[in-house]
Amino acid sequence: MTTIFDTITEPIARRVTAGLVRIGHVLRSRAWKGATPEGVTPTQGHALGLLREAEGGLSLGAIASMLGISAPTASDAMSALATKGLVVKAPGAKPRSINLSLTSEGEALAARTSEWPAFLSDAVETLEPAEQAALLRALVKLIRAMQASGDIPVQKMCVTCRYFRPNAHPGTETPHHCALVDAPFGDRHLRLHCGEHVPAEDDALYEQWR
Ligand code: SF4
Repeated sequence: MTTIFDTITEPIARRVTAGLVRIGHVLRSRAWKGATPEGVTPTQGHALGLLREAEGGLSLGAIASMLGISAPTASDAMSALATKGLVVKAPGAKPRSINLSLTSEGEALAARTSEWPAFLSDAVETLEPAEQAALLRALVKLIRAMQASGDIPVQKMCVTCRYFRPNAHPGTETPHHCALVDAPFGDRHLRLHCGEHVPAEDDALYEQWR
């Protein structure tokens, strides 16, 4: 049944996006507060976080595109981090390209400052367990979609892992199975980053889960 609100309300995708953008603004302004004693700007802090997730480092171009900034701005930010001893530059795989990776000091700072801000985890804690699981599931799908479009780097998530066996135990609270540790798990256990992750050959497992 349609109501007047179907015509006077913005599409739900736009309202959800607006909500996420608002949270993103707060995160951007607050999440890196812990880095300020080292003189790291939010952009530099964000770059440290990206480098921490990227095995083998990232090219300057990749960092610029992930941060949504120009190559010269990315270059300035990376030079500042290199001067602070947080990042090292090395010749990239392509001619004249530069690969960037974290030093041990950069790793430590990225680990320290990328912890979840308490204000956000406190807000998530106010949700019911089922709501938290549903939100996690939605986030996994969003991240997967952005990964497929190239808007974020590849994430080591369960749903894209070769060891993931979706719905191996149907009708139970833990319907999925991890073939690596040989144990069942549910949506609430889905990992966004797993050190043991091995990329699946195709999207079949993700589609099965989705
Ligand atoms: S190895 Fe890690 S990412 Fe892969 S299914 Fe098991 S827990 Fe998930």
